[in-house]
Amino acid sequence: MDLFEFQGKSLLARVGVPVPAGRVARTAHEARSAAEAIGGKVVIKAQVQVGGRGKAGGIKLAGGPDEAEARASEILGMDIKGHTVRVLWVEQASDIAAEWYVSFTLDRSARKHLAMVSAMGGMDIEAVAADTPDKVVRMHVDPVVGLSPWQASELVYRAGLDRATARKSAAVLRSLYQAFVSLDCDLVEVNPLILTATGEVMALDAKVTLDANAFFRHPDFEAFRDDFTPDPIEEMARQRGLNFIKLDGSVGIIGNGAGLVMSTLDVVSLVGGRASNFLDVGGGADAATITNALEVLTNDPTVRSVLINIFGGITRCDLVAEGIVGAVGGLDLPWPLVVRLDGTNAAQGREILAAIASDMVIPAPTMRAAAEKAVALAGESA
Ligand code: GDP
Ligand code: MN
Repeated sequence: MDLFEFQGKSLLARVGVPVPAGRVARTAHEARSAAEAIGGKVVIKAQVQVGGRGKAGGIKLAGGPDEAEARASEILGMDIKGHTVRVLWVEQASDIAAEWYVSFTLDRSARKHLAMVSAMGGMDIEAVAADTPDKVVRMHVDPVVGLSPWQASELVYRAGLDRATARKSAAVLRSLYQAFVSLDCDLVEVNPLILTATGEVMALDAKVTLDANAFFRHPDFEAFRDDFTPDPIEEMARQRGLNFIKLDGSVGIIGNGAGLVMSTLDVVSLVGGRASNFLDVGGGADAATITNALEVLTNDPTVRSVLINIFGGITRCDLVAEGIVGAVGGLDLPWPLVVRLDGTNAAQGREILAAIASDMVIPAPTMRAAAEKAVALAGESA
């Protein structure tokens, strides 16, 4: 789960990483009040779950409350890489002497954590890594040993961070690693970690990705969701216990089992189409589950045809077919359905479907044939 910057910073602050003081604002007026409370110069920062806000104009300096209100109204509602800005973080402006890059993540192939540190932090670390890879120091951290004081110092020296504040920087690196491990993060990235004019080392930005599988250890993390604006269709699917992810094509996909759904996405793209979603109804899907899944897709205006791909195991194809019959009768589906059934009770399922086959319900013998038909119906390929 990707956190907003302000949420990430609140977690970093818990383990002792210095962060500038700030407040959340959801309106321009709240941004004014925040600026009044903080005093002096402030930075108005768009809170979106995506990077590159600075370049997109989502980060602006303000001299005081009036300016804070004006800048806030410019940033609110802005679209940053498909994310609408609804929340702002108003923060005490920092006097920056240097901008560094630090991240901790997991390197699965090495079975170790990976630390990356660069003295060339700021906005475009990808460009630094591509053009001057030697400016980004990469070191594995043994998860059993953790980031020891000597290794933190080694990172600081090898990356060429400021010598006078090396001890402080090393301590901050260790706190960031501590956050990464103790909070069960997939990623802790601070770009930039800054050195201020007065010699302080602070996290000016925070990209924290939490591992939702570890939330049982951190029940309070669920509350972070309250600040997100959920995609209405994803939310509807979640409430119905369906695994749904929105994609950007126009062929709706329903399948049982994550592996089968992923291969269905591949086959759709192989035959020249693009899926509008990933939707896994899970094992043991019955008529009600199929109706639920179809109903979720009716709320997505980008869908132009739907491909149902079921491989019956625990799931029985006759029940799936009954679900389709019920949904077609009761839901007034706005697009044609292509259905491929195989596995447990496939023969019965196909028989049930044959009875309602039409321009709107099209049984297909194989996954490939089904994908070709669904893609053609969506008007995506010749
Ligand atoms: P990102 O573009 O989404 O990564 O957002 P950041 O929080 O990293 O901010 C981008 C850049 O804005 C930073 O690298 C800084 O150069 C600048 N910036 C952010 N906050 C401040 C601040 O308090 N003072 C100054 N002078 N610059 C800031
Ligand atoms: Mn940044």
